Amino acid sequence: MLQSQTVPASFHIEATAGKARAGRLVTPHGEIETPVFMPVGTLASVKGVPQETLEELGAQIILGNTYHLYLRPGVETVRRMGGLHGFMAWPRAILTDSGGFQVFSLNELRKVSEEGVTFRSHLDGSPHFFSPESATEAQIGLGADIIMAFDECTEYPADRGRVRASMELTQRWAERCKRYFEEHKKEGLWQKSGQSSVASGRRPAGSEAIEQPGNGPVDHRPPATGHCQSLFGIVQGGMDRELRKESAERTIAIGFQGYAIGGLSVGEPRALTREIVESTLEHLPEDKPRYLMGVGTPEEIVEYASQGVDMMDCVLPTRAARHGLLFTSEGKVSIKQARYAQDQNPPDPNCGCRVCQRYSRAYLRHLYASNEMLAQVLNSIHNLSFYLDTMRRVRHSISLGEVRLSF
Ligand SMILES: [Zn+2]
Repeated sequence: MLQSQTVPASFHIEATAGKARAGRLVTPHGEIETPVFMPVGTLASVKGVPQETLEELGAQIILGNTYHLYLRPGVETVRRMGGLHGFMAWPRAILTDSGGFQVFSLNELRKVSEEGVTFRSHLDGSPHFFSPESATEAQIGLGADIIMAFDECTEYPADRGRVRASMELTQRWAERCKRYFEEHKKEGLWQKSGQSSVASGRRPAGSEAIEQPGNGPVDHRPPATGHCQSLFGIVQGGMDRELRKESAERTIAIGFQGYAIGGLSVGEPRALTREIVESTLEHLPEDKPRYLMGVGTPEEIVEYASQGVDMMDCVLPTRAARHGLLFTSEGKVSIKQARYAQDQNPPDPNCGCRVCQRYSRAYLRHLYASNEMLAQVLNSIHNLSFYLDTMRRVRHSISLGEVRLSF
């Protein structure tokens, strides 16, 4: 097979301001302007927000969780439905995590060995096993544009010996992920030329379908043949700066198309998170995308972008929305409070989203108090819009060369 038939995503930096970078990540399912916030679609669904709304909000890439999709509906089902893009009718880019974080956070009965992790399903208690190879195989089957190495998320707190042993295990697993990926990446959905990767009934079309959502059924195939998935490595090392440096250097030596900082937001103080992110970033290559996993608040995503992080994801905007917490340009608004019962103002007077253009705080408060499902939908749309807008403003500032990014 020709080498040109497996082209991974490419990344270019277009502007810098201090340590911050404005870049462009080109994937088989469209270009992503970085720094980017990635909405989390755990079960092939960003909770409460339809795909057409995500497109309207300008989401360029969303996440799926391998652990959850592996358990339900199962990788084979997703693969047969055209991978995640075809299954969930999402034409833009997708990233899947490896399942490592969920195995460690949702399974107290897990057993870790050199070979992999035995765990029990949080749904029915059934036993399962993930190895670097099987987690990568699952992600090839799900067919996201960017897939992640299977790592061990070190618990916090942990002593130095434990952190080192865990980091060493992640390094050995990273090598196995890379080897498996190189040997099997051509088995991915996009390499089977002549086969549509979407469910039947979709019209065959060129890449322009991606640019014109809402115009009838959308073709979810990648716009051109010759692309393959990209595999990102994950830096671990707990809260130890030296071990983070060593993990970064060894992960880079293995060679990935992007580098993530994992194992943070696991209960440590936020000041420590910032310190570890800042020190780890110094050891990551300039010319590859840098992904900080699982953060954060609007203030934090601005700060991390200013430090040079290119990609971030967090369940916070949607999870908080379901609990009646709105992020606004004027700070947090707990819409459930009685003080909003007759407030005719929009949730955020400075937000251009469809929710703020149409509905009042009084109405959103009423929906929440009445336990109407529309409350969760509208709150989620606003919060995601706020996060995505925040990141667009940050990118604009970087493009103008503004070093001090303000929230
Ligand atoms: Zn809004």
